[in-house]
Amino acid sequence: MAVERTLSIIKPDAVAKNVIGDIYSRFEKAGLSIVAARMLQLSREQAEGFYAVHKERPFFKDLVEFMMSGPVMVQVLEGENAIAKNREVMGATNPKEAAPGTIRADFASSIGTNAVHGSDAPETAKQEIEFFFKPEEICPRSR
Ligand code: UDP
Repeated sequence: MAVERTLSIIKPDAVAKNVIGDIYSRFEKAGLSIVAARMLQLSREQAEGFYAVHKERPFFKDLVEFMMSGPVMVQVLEGENAIAKNREVMGATNPKEAAPGTIRADFASSIGTNAVHGSDAPETAKQEIEFFFKPEEICPRSR
């Protein structure tokens, strides 16, 4: 298995619930290392830009408002098979479908207000990491 990097966001609902540490612990227990991290308040431009792929979807406006509703914690996770592993720890998009013990099962309140984001493929991971971090802001653990 290859060592990968993926972009993770702890969304405003989970930051407001004060569970950043709990979520970080789940990443680390799954074998993922945090190699870059920053807390920030997204601007409208950043929220719209990050989710541009969804701009024609009916939920886009609410999604952008939600992502701007409070601070987010953005991190790069590194590890074996990191993209799929993070998606596994996160659980399904809709918390009603999320497996027990996953972040979304435990902390998400709806399909829109769902605690975390994680890249879904190598190409999106690369683009999303570059959206938030300069190469020199990433501190590799594995090489
Ligand atoms: N979303 C929503 N309604 C939907 C589908 C998605 O509000 O019917 C939001 C939700 O916050 C989700 C994000 O849009 O996390 C991106 O959707 P995607 O299908 O990429 O899900 P993810 O990769 O986050 O599981």
